[in-house]
Amino acid sequence: MSGARPIYLDYAATTPVDPRVAAAMNECLGLQGDFGNPSSGHAYGRSAARRVAAARAQLAALVGCASEEVVFTSGATEADNLAIFGAARAPAGAGRHLVTARTEHRAVLDPMRRLEKEGFEVTWLSPRADGRIDPDAVRAALRPDTRLVSIMHVNNETGVINDVAAIGATCRERNVLLHCDAAQSVGRLEIDLRRQAIDLLSISAHKLCGPKGIGALVVRPAARPRLAPQLLGGGQERGLRAGTLATHQIVGFGVAAEIAAIEREHEARRLGALRERLWQSLQGLGGVHLNGAGSERVAAILNVSFEGVEGESLVTGLPELALSTGSACSSASAEPSHVLRALGRSTELAQSSLRLSLGRFTTEADVEAAASAIARELYRLRSLAGTAGASPGDSGAGSGEDSGLSPLAWQYFRTAPCAGSLAGTAGPVVCGEAGGESAGTRVRIWLEIEGDSVTAARFQAYGCPHTLAVTAWVVEQLPGRRRATLVPGDPAGWAAVLDVPVEKLGRLFVVEDALQACLREWQARA
Ligand SMILES: *Cc1c(COP(=O)(O)O)cnc(C)c1O
Repeated sequence: MSGARPIYLDYAATTPVDPRVAAAMNECLGLQGDFGNPSSGHAYGRSAARRVAAARAQLAALVGCASEEVVFTSGATEADNLAIFGAARAPAGAGRHLVTARTEHRAVLDPMRRLEKEGFEVTWLSPRADGRIDPDAVRAALRPDTRLVSIMHVNNETGVINDVAAIGATCRERNVLLHCDAAQSVGRLEIDLRRQAIDLLSISAHKLCGPKGIGALVVRPAARPRLAPQLLGGGQERGLRAGTLATHQIVGFGVAAEIAAIEREHEARRLGALRERLWQSLQGLGGVHLNGAGSERVAAILNVSFEGVEGESLVTGLPELALSTGSACSSASAEPSHVLRALGRSTELAQSSLRLSLGRFTTEADVEAAASAIARELYRLRSLAGTAGASPGDSGAGSGEDSGLSPLAWQYFRTAPCAGSLAGTAGPVVCGEAGGESAGTRVRIWLEIEGDSVTAARFQAYGCPHTLAVTAWVVEQLPGRRRATLVPGDPAGWAAVLDVPVEKLGRLFVVEDALQACLREWQARA
């Protein structure tokens, strides 16, 4: 396996550019290509402008709007910002109330939080247990001074589909603008703005096998006068978004949209079957929870929580797969997934989630390899944590090169010497434990003692990969040590040996605490 790249199962994060898209983009780059500035009046500008117009039409056809309603942006983040800040700051309409949901993408949450600081009032809706936002809850939140409702079409973590048509109908009755972040649904689900009452729609090219750095906000005619531009300059995009149009990106986006329109239904059936197969295999492993169960979900996303394992360790232990976890220590923020928490999942289950997202180039073989790798690693980590039988001993493939662990830490994480318990041992044994699953880390250490020294040591641990590696390393140092010098150094020293990043140091105190608990029991016996 060494040298081979992992199987890509993270299409909800981004997708590779389709070769047909890349070819079209390439035609817009060199001197012989359509590289001109679409605003220029000469031949170069006019041919570039024609290509941009064609792409605009391809995108408009995919979502059922008019070409003029497409405003190109740098991506869905910018489209979300333009919709939210643009609607809030437009001179038309004096209301200062906004409605959104706790399960939105940060590109919606963060602008909303900013507006809240600026004196707007935001109603934060919670999803039902199945992950959906109840259209009746939106209706109940509307007030005479509500300016904008922002509810996503498909959630990027769970794949749960919101009934945006119903929400749109409610908003239209009350003359409130509806913005919908459709980054995860465009190209996957049918969107027809002639039938769905959505005023502002955010799209991202790189979620549909187009290039990164390009997206669009569709601005329906009724929303145009109620939207203030946020980027000023050359007056491009009907004054709504200044900046030279990125011809090659836009052309790629257009081709990606056209391919999606043609292949969408067939692809949804194919991915739905692959996802079902994956879910059937994972479900058989026991202690597996489907997040967003009970709700309609897109075929491409499967989000599952596994009892008894920590998400980052699971992902780190699967170097042959590229996927995401809602776990605390892999994400930038120190919180488990806000989306899974909003669904009512415990911290522990939110921390043990995997998001597997499939796409255009995912094969049946990929899905089968993923299922068996997950089974292997789940079993290994559960047995390390003492919540499953003995490990089958197969530590799987992969070099750990991209694991975020140092080579030594990887080795200890992967081989976990001294894992197990000393239950059933004939000699005197002391045991110390610290932490707990709900705290994200638990370490249990057993020492077999003879007189004043340790003759054998074993551990069980639940936690992030650094905690598991450090525990394995520390416990290996224990045999032969005496009671007075049992603890081999301190967490800072262990972190130095195994190259644990400083911000993770706090996680290692639990190892020291477990050793101290062993000492207390030992002293009580002596
Ligand atoms: C990916 C994504 C975004 C951000 O899109 P960019 O084009 O990367 O800025 C916003 N919202 C959702 C739901 C997404 O999945």
